[in-house]
Amino acid sequence: MIIIIRRQASSEERAQLMALLWQTVGSQHPVTTTKINGCEVIALESKLLDGQVCTMISQQSAVERILSISTPYMLVSRAFKAEDSCVVVGDTSRGQPVRIGGPAPVIMAGPCAVENKQQLLSTAFAVKAAGAQVLRGGAFKPRTSPYQFQGLGIEGLHLLAEAREVTGLPVITEVMEPDLVETVAEYADILQIGTRNMQNFPLLLAAGQNSRGRPVLLKRGLAATIEEWLLAAEYIVAAGNPNVILCERGIRSFDSQTRNLLDLACVALLHELTHLPVIVDPSHATGRRELVPAMSRAGIAAGAQGLILEVHPDPNSALCDGRQSITPEQLKAIVIETRLITEVMQGNRVLASYLSPEQVTPCEHPVQVA
Ligand code: PEP
Ligand code: MN
Repeated sequence: MIIIIRRQASSEERAQLMALLWQTVGSQHPVTTTKINGCEVIALESKLLDGQVCTMISQQSAVERILSISTPYMLVSRAFKAEDSCVVVGDTSRGQPVRIGGPAPVIMAGPCAVENKQQLLSTAFAVKAAGAQVLRGGAFKPRTSPYQFQGLGIEGLHLLAEAREVTGLPVITEVMEPDLVETVAEYADILQIGTRNMQNFPLLLAAGQNSRGRPVLLKRGLAATIEEWLLAAEYIVAAGNPNVILCERGIRSFDSQTRNLLDLACVALLHELTHLPVIVDPSHATGRRELVPAMSRAGIAAGAQGLILEVHPDPNSALCDGRQSITPEQLKAIVIETRLITEVMQGNRVLASYLSPEQVTPCEHPVQVA
């Protein structure tokens, strides 16, 4: 159930509503508001509001209306918000902000891990020249083995801030602990929550409450269902941050030929289920750089509103994920292909809208499909 608060409600009317909610359901569920589309909303499990309580709430002067949503994830559902959400990142004073979820796909690119100043800055300039709009780079690395490179930590954040300063590219980096959310938000334009942390609920809440309102890129857990993933996104939105981007990065499969299995059907399906923007990570999905261009094309064709790609000036010497990292030249080709595919897809829609049903003549000899 979603309670929509009237835009013109006075602070007294709001306070009265909040007091009633705390009194009736507050002991079982925290009552938090989120702003979506300029409207303040409160989502609550419908079983908390029995008929009488629901009537009392709907009679509050602060309430515009109460919506009943049948999916367990409510605020992120398409049933609640029919139009696509667009997440705006970057400093407007530096130039055009980047819009994720709009008509043009957004390319985020950079090294898996920030290794040193020279590596990061040369990659940052190269990905910008290749057409990427956001710089990625891990400062805190979630590594499978404790003996592998764990990232530069805070020093990596400083280098990312420097790279943003000199290139003007907004920066995305991973945060692994709730206690580090505020620090990472100080340096990064987008907080990345990695696959291993998709259901780290304290982290989701901290990211949802980050004081700078930084958008969050939420990667799909490596064995998470789509519903679990959307509920994880719901945690962030319900905590007060509507700016969430979903990233499909492949799920575990029985076949070890590729690192993960890229679930492209979920990209198309997510557009039915949610209004949040969806992007694809072909690097972690495949684990093999030779597969990255094809899966980038496929991701965009499936409806992804962007890609996040690992790029390294010398992939074979990368401290992390070199096998799946592409070079800046390969990135350039992917950016061009992405634009061409988008044009074809948008052109198709324009073409289809010109063709009225009468103009489509049925085939005289329909082909029989066995
Ligand atoms: C990464 O982006 O470098 C990363 C660790 O991603 P994932 O969480 O998808 O494995
Ligand atoms: Mn990586």
